[in-house]
Amino acid sequence: MRKPLIAGNWKMHKTVSETLAYLRRFRELVAGVEDREIMIAPPFTALYMAGQELAGSHIRLGAQNAHWAESGAFTGEISPLMLKECGVTYVILGHSERRHIFGETDEMIRQRLSGVLSAGLKPILCVGETLEEREAGRTMEVLETQVRSALSGFSAAELQGLVIAYEPVWAIGTGRTATPETAQEAHAYIRGLLGDLFGKDRAAEVRILYGGSVKPENIASLMAQPDVDGALVGGASLDPETFARIVKYG
Ligand code: PEP
Repeated sequence: MRKPLIAGNWKMHKTVSETLAYLRRFRELVAGVEDREIMIAPPFTALYMAGQELAGSHIRLGAQNAHWAESGAFTGEISPLMLKECGVTYVILGHSERRHIFGETDEMIRQRLSGVLSAGLKPILCVGETLEEREAGRTMEVLETQVRSALSGFSAAELQGLVIAYEPVWAIGTGRTATPETAQEAHAYIRGLLGDLFGKDRAAEVRILYGGSVKPENIASLMAQPDVDGALVGGASLDPETFARIVKYG
């Protein structure tokens, strides 16, 4: 049984004091929600304080990226070890904004994933096609390349805790959500790929989240799909009341 994971990606939003105010309110709103896992990924600067604030709570802390090395001459980067000490459990990797704005390649994402796993953190690997790729009929080919490149060379045992997020680029921050059927088709395809790589049983355990303009109004229909195991929520996770409504779907 895959426990749903509802994850918030704040991107470059919220200062330390704004994070604290949010978390205090959000904790009250989701108190008692136990049948689904909740994660929030604030910016790096707020992680330490958020880790202190969430210690002992059922809300998991996430980071929005991580470097592959433990330390070194990598100006502007943050290591998995640094994140772990802040109380981080999950690390988002390969987000489309990292791929398309900052030029992260499949190989860099594979290396980051390796560093995250070595530190005992859980990767949330984001994959997804652009509008141009979808219109050219290349969606599944793009998903296959992104999934295979990131996961090649790892054993099923090493990938314990892996989460995948299907995030069609055309749906991120656009208000244009994939239909539940479109999401299901991509999720089933990704699960099939995982089956080819690691066997059917392991593939059946991996949670595959949908991301792209998820809101309180569309979460339930997405979650009703058999291969949609949660959501990665950007814009709608910035307000505690709205995100709590998404968490409490159904
Ligand atoms: C995201 O940033 O991963 C995302 C899905 O954003 P939004 O929910 O705003 O589309």
